[in-house]
Amino acid sequence: MRAPMALQAPPPARLRRERRALQRGGLTLTGGSRPLRGERPLRIAMLAPPWIPVPPNGYGGIEAVVSLLTDELVRRGHDVVLFAAPGSRSLARVCSPLDAAHPDTIGSALHESDHVARAFRAIEAAAEEGRPFDVVHDHSGFTALAMADRVNAPVVHTIHGPFTDETSQFYAEHGQNAMLVAISRSQSVQAPVPVEVAAVVPNPVVVAEWPHRRSKMDYLLWMGRMDPVKGADRAIAVAKLAKRRLILAGPVQSGQERYFEERVAPHVDGAAVTYVGEVGGEQRRQLFANAEAFLMPIRWPEPFGMVVVEALACGTPVLAFPEGAVSEIVLDGVNGYHVEDEGQMAAAVEKLDEIDPGRCRQSVAERYDLSVVADGYEAVYRRAVRAPLIVPA
Ligand code: UDP
Repeated sequence: MRAPMALQAPPPARLRRERRALQRGGLTLTGGSRPLRGERPLRIAMLAPPWIPVPPNGYGGIEAVVSLLTDELVRRGHDVVLFAAPGSRSLARVCSPLDAAHPDTIGSALHESDHVARAFRAIEAAAEEGRPFDVVHDHSGFTALAMADRVNAPVVHTIHGPFTDETSQFYAEHGQNAMLVAISRSQSVQAPVPVEVAAVVPNPVVVAEWPHRRSKMDYLLWMGRMDPVKGADRAIAVAKLAKRRLILAGPVQSGQERYFEERVAPHVDGAAVTYVGEVGGEQRRQLFANAEAFLMPIRWPEPFGMVVVEALACGTPVLAFPEGAVSEIVLDGVNGYHVEDEGQMAAAVEKLDEIDPGRCRQSVAERYDLSVVADGYEAVYRRAVRAPLIVPA
C-alpha cells in the first residue's frame, strides 16, 4: 500500500523556492496577480489527467491550461494542490497518484480510473484530517465526473472535448454530479438536454509570454496532433495550391501512424513541405511568431483550439474552417479569415497583408488572457462553494 499523500499547503518560503526553481526552468511568472478583495482564499484540489506532466514539454493542450490556471490561483493567494502525472512542476503543491506518466496510452481506463481513485482517496483523507478542500476542479476525462457524487466536496468539471453522440449520453447521465464549465460558446450550445452548463470559461494564454512579430518569414504553419480531424493533409493541399512553403509540427500519437504514413509523409520533402516533429519551448514560439499564417483546416467541432490563440498572440493571422470554437476565436477579416475549403484557404493567403498583426494579438489579449480566465474560474468556484449540488442519496 502506498503511503498517504501529504496535502499540507506549502509554506510561503517553499513557495518562494519553487518560484525560483520554476524560473530557472525557463518559465516566466507573468499573469495578472490580483488581490482577493476581502474574500477568503479557497482550498482547491486541481485534478489534471494522468497522461502528460504539467506543464507539458511539447504537445498537451489540457496540461497547458491546468498549468497556467493553477499557478495563477496560487499567485492570487489560494491554497491549491495539483494532482497530476509524475514530473509535473507547479507553484502549487504537486501530488502524483501514479508512478509514471502515460503519454502513449491516452484515454486508457486502467490509468485514468487508478489516477482518479487515488486522488479521491487523498481528498477524502484530507477532509478526515480536518483540512477539507472547498472545491475539486476536474480536467481529467470521464472517470472523475462519473464518480463526482462520491467525493465530499463540490466538483467543477471542465468539458475539454466535443459533445458527440457518445459523450452527450455520458453527460446526460452524469453531468449533474458537478458544476459543468464549457470552454467556448459553440461547445456550450452543443450540450444536449438535460445537460446544464453553468458557465463558459475559455482556455487561457499569457499573451506577454509569446513573442510579437510584425515581419514574417515565407512559410505557412500547421501544428497539432496527426489526427484527420486536425487536417495536416488539407494544410498540405492548401500550401501546394498557394505555392507557399509549409511547416508541419506535432506528435504522431498512438493510432495515428497509418494516417501519417499514408496522407502526410509522402508529401514531406524538406523543402516545400517540412515536418519538424513534436516541438516545444523556444522552437515552438519562434515557429508561431515567424509564420506568415497559421492554417486551421479542421473538420470537427473543435471545442477550443489552443494553437489558434497561441498563433494570434504572436501576431500571426489564422486561416480557418470556421468549425466549433474556431469560428469565435478567429474574427473574419480582423485576425484572419473564415474559409470553406482548401481552395478558399489558398486564395486567402493572398489577402494576408490586410490583417494587422497587432490586432491579432489584441484580439486574444482582450478575451483569453490568463487574468480573464482566472477571474472566471474564481467566480465559478465561489458559486460551487455557496451552493453545492444536492445529489440524491
Ligand atoms: N503543441 C506543442 N507541440 C507540438 C504540437 C502541439 O506544444 O508539437 C501544443 C500546442 O501549442 C497547444 C497544444 O499542444 O498548446 C494542443 O492543444 P489544442 O487545443 O490546439 O489541440 P488538442 O488539445 O485538440 O490536441
